[in-house]
Amino acid sequence: MGTDPAVVPGKQWEVAAVPQPRREKLTGWGRTAPSVAQVVRPRTREQIAEAVAGAGPRGVVARGLGRSYGDPAQNAGGLVLDLTGMNRILGVDLDQGTVEVEPGVSLQQLMQAMLPFGYFVPVTPGTRYVTVGGAIGCDIHGKSHHADGSFAQHVLELDLLLADGSVRTLTPETEPELFWATAGGMGLTGVIVRAKLRMMRVETSRIQVETQRVANLDDAMERMTLTDADYRFSVASLDNLATGPSLGRGWVESGNFATLDQLPEKLRGNPLAFSPKPLAAMPDVFPSGLLNRRTIRLMNEANFRRAPKDARPHLATIGGFFHPLDAIHDWNRVYGAAGFLQYQFVVPFAAASTLRRIVERVAVQGAPSFVTVLKRFGPASPGYLSFPADGWTLTYDFPTGTPGLAGLLRWMDAQVLEAGGRLYLAKDSRLDAGDLAAMYPRLEAFRKVRAEADPHGVFVSDQSRRLGL
Ligand SMILES: Cc1cc2nc3c(=O)[nH]c(=O)nc-3n(C[C@H](O)[C@H](O)[C@H](O)COP(=O)(O)OP(=O)(O)OC[C@H]3O[C@@H](n4cnc5c(N)ncnc54)[C@H](O)[C@@H]3O)c2cc1C
Repeated sequence: MGTDPAVVPGKQWEVAAVPQPRREKLTGWGRTAPSVAQVVRPRTREQIAEAVAGAGPRGVVARGLGRSYGDPAQNAGGLVLDLTGMNRILGVDLDQGTVEVEPGVSLQQLMQAMLPFGYFVPVTPGTRYVTVGGAIGCDIHGKSHHADGSFAQHVLELDLLLADGSVRTLTPETEPELFWATAGGMGLTGVIVRAKLRMMRVETSRIQVETQRVANLDDAMERMTLTDADYRFSVASLDNLATGPSLGRGWVESGNFATLDQLPEKLRGNPLAFSPKPLAAMPDVFPSGLLNRRTIRLMNEANFRRAPKDARPHLATIGGFFHPLDAIHDWNRVYGAAGFLQYQFVVPFAAASTLRRIVERVAVQGAPSFVTVLKRFGPASPGYLSFPADGWTLTYDFPTGTPGLAGLLRWMDAQVLEAGGRLYLAKDSRLDAGDLAAMYPRLEAFRKVRAEADPHGVFVSDQSRRLGL
């Protein structure tokens, strides 16, 4: 009891009032479309309930570590609940491999706490700096979607604080509709205040990786298709400016967690070691436009040449394999104040020709992308708005100042739509409401569940207003 910071010292029965909200300008990770909101940092579910009750006409939305690229964790003129202060691990069951957490616990924290016992997070995205609330809110995926599915598929139970202040415990079995509307529901059904997760058993904290250079897109797709069953983790990085026979050249990385006997002698003494530290912080001094066609062409060339021609197994650390960008804090500043946007789509495997058409058009137009990543997804989760579905998913990072970008992206939207694909809401900052409805066939069903849970539309975000979610 005395450890709860929300309890007033000396009067331990009295719960402190909601901390004062502060006016703040917020953006997503891409730093586009800033908006100003009242931000409050609750420490208990009672404080969340009180804040939600007093939200006012512009409503409220939860925010984790703000690693979504666009505007889903912003609420212009309204209230935003910064949940990073609710970051306690509430319980661990080592026999069952489960952990119960508050919503603001980050994946980094979970790794630090659970790796010494031989457990890793069930799904990790390209950064450890996301919260469990944000991971469920976006139903995130990693390099192992074909093997492990998405994050919410490993959530056994969650407590959702609704618009009327009540808390419902949801499991996929007992309340499937509200559970799967919340998983990937972008914070619009309520506030997740606790979650129980199933963790992944590992013998070591190293990954046995094979990296192989691929001559073009066909080569990359063939290698990934053939090796899917052998590797839990798989990803291709493409040179997005290469054209002609080299279109889509790059390298494929495939890996599995190493077993103890795969570790060299010197690492066996501490096989579950995990202590990544950021190397540096990026200063906020870069002009927009530093990452352009010329600089990215040079970097692409250097990266391609560095990749080995033949698959060579090597051991990688968790940070090096899953989260290379985390080595530099605030790396998004390198795009300058104008920011950048990430465009991630999935198209069914049968629509490989659409994927190729998009890769070709982006390369021929010369739109630079610092990171261009191809993955294979497995079957979709039951999440109403969950993004992953059987097929190829491709991600581009485009600086906002790229000439002709708006037209290119509109053309890409149309291609994705026609192929029966969709864009990822966690990355979106510009999609059209009509296109979104066509991409997510379960949107109406989501709206129905949401309307029952939140009849007065208390939970809203900049993104939900923009897209009419
Ligand atoms: C470098 C980088 C790499 C990435 N790689 C991947 C990847 O490989 N795969 C992938 O899927 N994503 C990836 N992402 C996106 C990221 O995983 C998601 O955007 C994630 O949701 C961010 O978590 P967050 O805590 O920052 O949430 P925020 O961005 O703060 O919020 C995201 C959404 O979750 C909601 N939310 C947050 N907390 C709660 C809560 N307690 N209750 C209800 N709703 C809540 C918010 O309202 C919002 O709609 C990447 C992002 C970055 C910056």
